[in-house]
Amino acid sequence: MNDVLNDAITDIVSRRVKILDEVNHTFALSKEQLREYQLHKVKETLLHVYQNNEFYKGKLTESNISWNDIKALSEFSALPFTIKEEIKSQYPFGLLSASHDEIVRYGESTGTTGDPINSYYTGDDWFANNCIVATLLSNLITNQDTVAVIVPYGLALVGQDIDRALELIGAKTIAIGMLSSACPVERSIKILKDTETTTLVCSPSRALYISEEAMKLGYDLKNDFKIKKILCVGEGTSIEKAKAIKEAWGADAYPLYGMTETNTIAMSCQFGKMHIVENKLDCEIIDASTGEVLGDDVRGELVVTSFGKAMPLIRYRTGDLCTIHSQSCACGSTFRFLEHHGRITDSIVMGDRRIQLLDLEAIILSASGTKFFTLKIKGDELIVGLVLSKEECQRVERDVMERLKIEFNIISSVVPVDGEQLIHAIKNKVKPSISSILQDGEK
Ligand SMILES: [Zn+2]
Repeated sequence: MNDVLNDAITDIVSRRVKILDEVNHTFALSKEQLREYQLHKVKETLLHVYQNNEFYKGKLTESNISWNDIKALSEFSALPFTIKEEIKSQYPFGLLSASHDEIVRYGESTGTTGDPINSYYTGDDWFANNCIVATLLSNLITNQDTVAVIVPYGLALVGQDIDRALELIGAKTIAIGMLSSACPVERSIKILKDTETTTLVCSPSRALYISEEAMKLGYDLKNDFKIKKILCVGEGTSIEKAKAIKEAWGADAYPLYGMTETNTIAMSCQFGKMHIVENKLDCEIIDASTGEVLGDDVRGELVVTSFGKAMPLIRYRTGDLCTIHSQSCACGSTFRFLEHHGRITDSIVMGDRRIQLLDLEAIILSASGTKFFTLKIKGDELIVGLVLSKEECQRVERDVMERLKIEFNIISSVVPVDGEQLIHAIKNKVKPSISSILQDGEK
C-alpha cells in the first residue's frame, strides 16, 4: 500500500473512533442534556453555514435576526425557512458548506423532474449517520440476521445508508436493490427462501406485492420463509397496512423515515415507535398554512435543521405531515418519536377538505379487509376500487361507505377493480407508495 493511502486510512480510522465516541455519548444524554446538545449544535451549524456558504450567509444577514445570540431552541424559530425550491435553485453545489474534496457521497431524490433535490456528505457526516442508524437498528437487528435490502441503490441514499449500518452491525446483507431485470421478483423470492432471510427492508407496498407474487408461485409464506421483520421505508405505514403485512408474512412492520436531503430522520425502536435522530437534527412542527410553530402532539408540517458539515439545512420545510410525541417509550430512549402522515401532497381535495391518503388507507383497509385498492374522484364522490370480487365488494360496501362518511364526511361508492393491473403499477414504480392508488393522476 502506498504511503499516501496508508496515511489517509490511518487518519480515517482515528477520526471514526472520535465520531463513534460522540455518537455513543449523545445516545446516553438525558432529555435536558439532549436539548442542550441540540442548542449547541444548532448554534454551531448557524456559524458554520454563515462562514462557509454564500446562500445561507445572505439568508441569515437578510433575516436581521441576532442568530449568533440565540439562547434557547425556541428563539431559533424566528429564523427563515429553507424550502424545496431553494434546494433546487442551488443545484448542484450551491448549498455546499465544506470543500469539494471533502465530499465522499452524493445523492439525489427519486422521481423528481427538472432540477433535482440533491445532497452530499463528507466522510465524517456519512460515518456519523451510519453509526446513528446502526445504533438504532441494533434494537431490531443483530449479526444473526439475514437482511434483504429491496430499495433502489442508484442515487437515492436510503439503501446505501442502511446497507452500511447493517455492515457495522454484522448482519448478513443481501443488496437486491430495486426489483429489476438484474434481480426480478421471482429470483428475489427464491433468494429470500434459500438464504433464510429474516428481515426485509422495502416499502410496505412492495412487501405486500412480493407476498402476492410468492403466493402465486405456490409458496406458503409463513412456513416456507423465515421473515420476521419488515423495515418499511419510502412511504408512510398505516397501522392497517402493518396489519396486512403481519397477516401476509407473519412479520412485524417497523417504519423508518428519512429523505435524501436530510438523510435519516426517524427510526423504529423494538416497540414500533419512530424515534427522531435528535443527535443529528432538530425537528419542529409548524402550521403548513401560516408557518406558526406548533407544539408536540399536534399534526403539522415537519421542519428539519440538520447538523452535518457538507450540506446542513436550516429550518427545512419537508412538505411532510407529522406529529411529534415527547412521552416516554418503553425502550427507554430519550429521543422523541414521531408519526408520519404522508406528504402534504399525498392527499385528495374534496369540497373544502384536504384528506391525507394514509388516513383514507387506514379506513379502507380496515373496513374492506383487502391489501390493495384504488381511488378516483368523480364530481363530489370518491370511488373506491377494491381488489375483491363483485360479491365481496357488495359485502363490505356499506361499511366502507359509512366509515368514510363518518370520518371525513365524504360520499363514496365501491367497485371491484382488476388486481393484476394495480399490482403491475406497484411493481413498476421506483418508489411504490400509496400514491400508486390514485387513478388518472387525480389529486
Ligand atoms: Zn422506543
